[in-house]
Amino acid sequence: MTITSYNPADPDDLVVAVEEPGAEAVRAAVGRARAAQGDWLAAGAGARSAALGRIADAVEAHAHELAALIVREVGKPLAEALGEVARTAAIWRYYAQAPYAPSGAVHETAAGPGLLLTRRRPYGVAGLIAPWNFPLAIPTWKAAPALAVGNAVVLKPAPEATACALRLAELAGLPEDVFTVLPGGAEEGAALVDAADVVSFTGSTGVGRAVVRAATDRGVPVQAELGGLNAALVLPDADIAQAAGHIAAAIAGYAGQKCTATSRVIAVGAAYEPLREALVKALAAVDDAVCGPVINAGARERLTGAVSSAVEAGASVLTGGGVPERTGWYVEPTLLAEVPAEHPLAREEFFGPIAVLHAVADLDEAIALANDTPHSLSTSVHTRSLDVALAAADRLDAGMIRVNAPSSGVDFHLPFGGAKGASHGDREQGQAALDFYTVSRTVSVLPGGGAL
Ligand code: NAD
Repeated sequence: MTITSYNPADPDDLVVAVEEPGAEAVRAAVGRARAAQGDWLAAGAGARSAALGRIADAVEAHAHELAALIVREVGKPLAEALGEVARTAAIWRYYAQAPYAPSGAVHETAAGPGLLLTRRRPYGVAGLIAPWNFPLAIPTWKAAPALAVGNAVVLKPAPEATACALRLAELAGLPEDVFTVLPGGAEEGAALVDAADVVSFTGSTGVGRAVVRAATDRGVPVQAELGGLNAALVLPDADIAQAAGHIAAAIAGYAGQKCTATSRVIAVGAAYEPLREALVKALAAVDDAVCGPVINAGARERLTGAVSSAVEAGASVLTGGGVPERTGWYVEPTLLAEVPAEHPLAREEFFGPIAVLHAVADLDEAIALANDTPHSLSTSVHTRSLDVALAAADRLDAGMIRVNAPSSGVDFHLPFGGAKGASHGDREQGQAALDFYTVSRTVSVLPGGGAL
């Protein structure tokens, strides 16, 4: 079997083809990584910090090449691809400081002389499984903290993003077997979950649940960041033009292929009519520089099929709904209304530039509707009232709440993750990731043996 990735804007353009390595190769890579990890840890904070800093430099030095590869391999519009590369460099630089951070604390004994220490230590080999939609940033926000604290890393990228991941590992230039990228699909992913000492997964909900079960059965720590069904709440006092701009960007930016993309727009009371008009206009004006193609033919069929079935069930198309006549896997930015509450488009993540508009009477109803999903990742709230923004921030289930901003996008140094079924285990990014990739040890230094 061969792993291939194709250009979504030009499906005849084969970006990469590599032999599928198989499960045995994954076990062997983890074994080599385990052998290399001791030296990586023993090299010390200075060496690890310098190595991560050099990766940031290399990413910056190759920014245009990397952005072009992202555009070609996963169809991301150029401005967003350049943004992703800049974020990738920033993440490596941020975690380059982490090796110097305190790794524990000193405590008093309960009785008698002695020294009690807690110290965080790496697990060994971090097995990282990534999706295709942020082909450099997601591998980086997993690998950089894992490496900073002294783990070795084996990364299995999504097949659709194979070339980006291989280039990242090449540019990283770390000692052999410290950062291995192993292309593959489900078989290699499952083998990695079976072999690694700590597992971090980002991807779809169904696959993520299986990964969590498998890692938990083995007793290894696991985190999983999964799909979202993200809402935008618009209050009547909002700046409607600004809200429509932000929401259109969150629906159609990168063809809605972000876990934090908006797929439900909830208009409160008098906000409905002006918002509908402004949003239709904003979505109709979205071009390729913002939207781009979806990842493959299957994704396009799933999206157009969902729109047709919603229309058959009584939904109306406010804008979009079709497929442009051109090469590439494009789908028009689409807004639907009157979608039946139980239709899959109102309940499941479709991962495309499509959203459903709902009308509700008041903030209570808006919050109840926003919370009526297990996929509570990110919610945006659009209002001029600080009271409403704070009340919504208290009462929304989402892992991330964004006020007067698109639901997509969170600073790279803050904890990132969802609530309820959108997430499992510790947060990614920031300090939270450093905690996830380490385990605390308690060391008691007690002259004379201390207390029992
Ligand atoms: P996916 O679940 O199909 O694949 C994710 C990864 O899992 C890939 O590397 C894939 O090869 C691997 N995989 C597949 N089967 C496996 C198995 N049985 N065992 C182990 N690994 C396996 O997801 P995708 O299509 O690559 O990415 C899109 C999804 O990712 C969307 O649902 C999106 O919301 C989600 N996502 C979530 C976040 C977040 O932080 N919450 C961020 C980005 C994307």
